[in-house]
Amino acid sequence: MNETRLDYEPGRDGVARFWLIAPEGMPCVLQSGFFDRLDKAVAAFQADDSQTGGILMSARDGVFADGADIREIAGLMERGDGARALRDWSARASRSLRQLELCGKPLAAAVNGRALGGGLELALACHRRILLARPGHDVGLPEATLGLLPGGGGTQRLPRMIGIEAALPLLLEGRRLSPEEALRQGLVDELAANAEGLLAQARRWLADAPDAVKPWDRKGFRVPGGAGPLSPSAPVSFLAGTARVKARQSRYPAGRAILSCVFEGTIVPMDKGLEIESIQFGQLAAGAVARNLVRGFMRRSALRKPRPDGASTGLRVGRLGVVGAGMMGRGIANHAASRGMEVRLIDRDPQGTAAAIEAIAGDRAREVEKGRLCERTAASILARISPAATMDALADCDLVVEAAFENLQLKQDIIADAARVAGAGALLASNTSTLSIEAIAGASDRADRVLGLHFFSPVERMPLVEIVRAKETSAAAVADAIAFVLQLDKIPIVVSDSPGFYTSRVFCTYIDEAMAMLAEGIAPALIENAARNWGLPASPLAVADEVSLDLQVHVIEQARQRGLPDRLLRGHAWPVIERMVALGRLGRKSRAGFYDYGGEGKRLWPELARLWPALPQQPDADEVARRLLYVQSVETLRCLAEGVVPDAVSADVGAVLGIGFPAWTGGTISLIETVGADAFARECAALADRHGTRFSLDGLEETMSRVVPGATPSQATREKQPAE
Ligand code: NAD
Repeated sequence: MNETRLDYEPGRDGVARFWLIAPEGMPCVLQSGFFDRLDKAVAAFQADDSQTGGILMSARDGVFADGADIREIAGLMERGDGARALRDWSARASRSLRQLELCGKPLAAAVNGRALGGGLELALACHRRILLARPGHDVGLPEATLGLLPGGGGTQRLPRMIGIEAALPLLLEGRRLSPEEALRQGLVDELAANAEGLLAQARRWLADAPDAVKPWDRKGFRVPGGAGPLSPSAPVSFLAGTARVKARQSRYPAGRAILSCVFEGTIVPMDKGLEIESIQFGQLAAGAVARNLVRGFMRRSALRKPRPDGASTGLRVGRLGVVGAGMMGRGIANHAASRGMEVRLIDRDPQGTAAAIEAIAGDRAREVEKGRLCERTAASILARISPAATMDALADCDLVVEAAFENLQLKQDIIADAARVAGAGALLASNTSTLSIEAIAGASDRADRVLGLHFFSPVERMPLVEIVRAKETSAAAVADAIAFVLQLDKIPIVVSDSPGFYTSRVFCTYIDEAMAMLAEGIAPALIENAARNWGLPASPLAVADEVSLDLQVHVIEQARQRGLPDRLLRGHAWPVIERMVALGRLGRKSRAGFYDYGGEGKRLWPELARLWPALPQQPDADEVARRLLYVQSVETLRCLAEGVVPDAVSADVGAVLGIGFPAWTGGTISLIETVGADAFARECAALADRHGTRFSLDGLEETMSRVVPGATPSQATREKQPAE
């Protein structure tokens, strides 16, 4: 059986034990079958007069429970009767937890590891919570981050325990609390310093014959701080909650649903509140946004798993060579060392290498200061990075990645040099964002072992790596590169060697659309705000400033030299780029771009209004946002049609993690499914009429029907009909 068990064990001393037992090698998550077992255990406990109290804990060190089994929830989401099935799922869990709560005998949760989501809800239903205080033993209700709400009583018990004002931020943001913070906020009653203490404290509590009736099951109970519209503090907390939801989560319905559960559920008795929660859970979880977020989570987990495709040479990188100690090289070295690899770092300028190592030491020292890293770990990370004076020092490296200046000749020389010194099985990689891997590999005598490893900045934080496979890259090299990216704890997608690869190509359509809108006379503030309102974390003009406009000139000039088709020469954005660069406004690095960068932060450059006078009639903000998103989805369809990115999963994950495409959409392809293939095709047809062929789905009919559930080839061609 592959499900988490609950074993009941009566004790000779009258203290029964409830054991959560997850199967070996499986996550400690709760399936609906778990609740059947819980019911049986609670019934046996109640019926046995020799048992006066109980202790519930997990058999797995460090994990109490990680919540509901997300695969089971995802399965229910796919069903036609999703909302009802999901409501029943929540009601089923709630009923069991309520029975446990009302069993009449005191039950302590000895929380011997992290307790998240349904895991914490199980502990909240017990009559006391004692948490083993170790790093990583966090507790929290992270459901909102997956587009869901706690459906096992979390939205009802937490506000009744700690008050609405304290509970709302925890429910809305899904933040994990360290043991100390959990105690401070009242999510647990005591901390234990070690495992023996944990049990001893639970037994001590039981020995005092504690009451097994929760405050809300007594007459006259009032939610701490008040509940409902008539209480003195409640309206303020709801206002604050509503403001939070509006400002940051307008595209994420979980926030509104959580507010409803808390608002409506805390003015009625507990059982009624639980019913409200289950109804809200069903409706929310059956929606497209929850589906997209849950699916995204599962896809990322799947991409993080090793792929046994038989092609790999079994390469495991113990020693990594990094050439170029600038921003990217330094980040790659730092991150690889933190994952246990020995790193040889080399720059053309030895002072550059020394400065990079010093910068890494400074970053790590700051982490130690903030308590995020212990001193010993920081020291061992640094000890693993050694400066190299010449390329010969890379002879024993399993993989060499170059992150030198973006110049073809330079990169060809470095890869050829690395091929000369490194062992025959070593992998050679370039971190180029724009150059052809085939051209870089061509200069070496082992093109089959050369590929692109496109990291994102800042390397330490960005989870995605694009592996770029050139014509001659062998399947073994790709498999080895995937294994290396997994060794780094990052998520690989494999793309083909073409201009901009996948993510940069799609990203350019985003900033270009914003520049085209600016040139049309759409107010820059409208463009920026519309993007943010639709959940794009980096608004397009701001992010264009970050990557800099002279870099865009460089990329476009290179594309012209390579004789790329007009479509990739970004003609609709070029007039804006050219004008800004001519005015010396290159972006943040010149402290002047679409924004002015002053002491008190940045603000949109007022002169934009003179350069591109605003149209008297401005478009609707949603129309602006749709243009910014849809243009990226159409470009992704082109990438899929051309085989630049292999499948919708890689495309979606790459868009969300690599270029900040809004997570609620699920990614550039899931967005089409979310909007509805029909509506998307109609909208694109209208946009193509108004703004140009970059929105046209011509020639993409087959691709769209292949990758978008519910799409048919005729939908894309229907674009030729006039839009409604
Ligand atoms: P950078 O200018 O910060 O660093 C480049 C480093 O390479 C410098 O320290 C330079 O001294 C060194 N260098 C130059 N020639 C060398 C040689 N022959 N041998 C050894 N070292 C040499 O640049 P960066 O931002 O770190 O970018 C590096 C590469 O990564 C570029 O190809 C860039 O396109 C790519 N990239 C950058 C980003 C980003 O966000 N900056 C993202 C993805 C990829």
